[in-house]
Amino acid sequence: MTRVAIVTGGTRGIGEAISLALKDLGYTVAANYAGNEEKAKAFTEATGIAAYKWDVGDHEATLAGVAQVEADLGPVDVVVNNAGITRDGVLHRMTFENWNEVIRVNLGGCFNMAKATFPGMRERGWGRIVNIGSINGQAGQYGQVNYAAAKSGIHGFTKALAQEGAKFGVTVNAIAPGYIDTEMVAAVPAPVLEKIVAKIPVGRLGHAEEIARGVAFLCSEDAGFVTGSTMSINGGQHMY
Ligand code: NDP
Repeated sequence: MTRVAIVTGGTRGIGEAISLALKDLGYTVAANYAGNEEKAKAFTEATGIAAYKWDVGDHEATLAGVAQVEADLGPVDVVVNNAGITRDGVLHRMTFENWNEVIRVNLGGCFNMAKATFPGMRERGWGRIVNIGSINGQAGQYGQVNYAAAKSGIHGFTKALAQEGAKFGVTVNAIAPGYIDTEMVAAVPAPVLEKIVAKIPVGRLGHAEEIARGVAFLCSEDAGFVTGSTMSINGGQHMY
């Protein structure tokens, strides 16, 4: 039986590339999304990968969404927690809502997905969880206390859950991407982006496929001895 993988935020940007990479590995993939119906429909038509809508920050909705995937495709063996949002602003202007929403979706989403899938992986004795962190969770970033805190939290979450999964064949790892040419980065004003690219030793933004190849390795059979690690894929921008 082929293994089943869920990629949250898996219908566009980095998540889309991850969904395709896991399909290439031979997994049956379910791509979750939040609400961009047009993109989800186009994605499924182009790739044949089923798309499932739920808000990963909503605990009950996540349990129900994963249950639906399992009813359709079978037990989930691989989870990539990729869904993420930004609500940037300097602290003195950031609202409590913008703080809370970023923590709820980016970090809460990892907890909700793990609650829905980790116990089954543990019982079956095999699993792969990859959490998408960020260079800005490692190094901090002006105007992003909410996002940096959530992403930094993901790195701690990864190391703690890795310890719980190790004896049961469940690996838990993180990837910390640098700046990747997706819609999220397209929202950064051009002069700010120019300054960012100037700080990347490789001299360019990364591509979604370059993150996806790292995720595919961590989700593969070959990566069974890799757990609790963070793979930085950032063009040398932050050497950790
Ligand atoms: P995009 O904004 O391009 O895509 C975000 C994806 O997440 C979409 O599929 C979106 O669904 C989904 N999503 C958003 N909120 C929710 C939610 N509440 N529930 C379920 N799905 C949700 O992001 P990127 O591809 O750029 O980023 C992917 C991940 O990589 C994020 O975690 C981001 O923080 C991280 N990252 C990105 C970097 C970059 O440079 N781009 C750098 C470092 C980290 P929908 O399409 O329906 O809106």
